[in-house]
Amino acid sequence: MKSARPNPIEFRREIIPSRMLKRDASGNLVESAVPLEFRLDPLTGRSCRVVPFSPERIIRPDLADLEKRSRELTCPFCPPLLEQITPKFTPALFPGGNIRVGKTYGFPNSGPYDVYGAVFVMSDRHFVRLDEFTVGTVRDALLAAQTYLRRVRTIDPQVNYHFVAWNYMPPSGGSLVHPHVQSNAGYFPTNYQRQILDASDRYFEEKGTNFWSDLLEQEKQSGERYVGRIGDTYWLTGFVPQGRLSDVITIFPGRSSITELSEKDLHDFASGLLRVFGYLDRLNLLSFNMSTYSGTSAKSFWAHARLTPRATLLYSPIETSDQFYYQILQDENICILPPEFAAGRLKKQFSEGPDGQSAK
Ligand SMILES: [Zn+2]
Repeated sequence: MKSARPNPIEFRREIIPSRMLKRDASGNLVESAVPLEFRLDPLTGRSCRVVPFSPERIIRPDLADLEKRSRELTCPFCPPLLEQITPKFTPALFPGGNIRVGKTYGFPNSGPYDVYGAVFVMSDRHFVRLDEFTVGTVRDALLAAQTYLRRVRTIDPQVNYHFVAWNYMPPSGGSLVHPHVQSNAGYFPTNYQRQILDASDRYFEEKGTNFWSDLLEQEKQSGERYVGRIGDTYWLTGFVPQGRLSDVITIFPGRSSITELSEKDLHDFASGLLRVFGYLDRLNLLSFNMSTYSGTSAKSFWAHARLTPRATLLYSPIETSDQFYYQILQDENICILPPEFAAGRLKKQFSEGPDGQSAK
């Protein structure tokens, strides 16, 4: 249903050519213009540059070799070591010492990044390829991570900031290939949490509406980056990605925090993630980072998640990182897989589904 009022979100983008004399096939110099696209995030004002790269040049990583090398190391997440050497929660937090949901086994992160930190090993299988995950496996891990956050916030009401995150495979920064997600919670926001929470509050104060609701409505209308819906979870790509290969965003309307999601929501979220895994697999992108974002009031902020593919660089035979000085030292993303291209591919995957079921 179309809104009666004009949508206040502005997607600002500008294409400016960079000129040079390029060599043609015969080695002659020919004046050329390389188009550079500059974008501004409609919420935070953060900028990024889009410089498209042919996805055909993405080289599929050698997973067999990676699996072999990882098995030559001792994996602390493989049974029986997992339950023998990992820490236990304090009795005040979880009297049983651990969280178990299905095959997920949760325990404190021995090297925590915040006041509260936990790891959730998703499977007793050491190596799970993207096309081998099931909705139940992913849902149970999310449920365990959510159980942890709910309990932390019950016993320590000062905890205002938290998230569930997933590093999958080494290019993402994941040090172990054995599949696991993490929950972190504490008293201080990360830089990005603070930016989006403050900007969402400002948007609400200035315009009287919820940015995330306006964003979803506008993206659904334009269709440029909107992917689809599964239950009460909505999927799109971000106009200004955080990652080099475009981000997939999941919005949970009406809920301010990931702790408010029902088991059905988590099932739908997992089901969508499997569709995203299918999209990644088809593009030979076999690693990703994922994080949820939560606030405190659904008036100004809706809980959501971002997943961004990671890769040792694409066309490089020497395992070059996909991050360089622009991201690390200039805090500016160079996106090489345009969000509109990613949305088109994702739509196809969502229409097919991981299990033959179409998303609405
Ligand atoms: Zn393992």
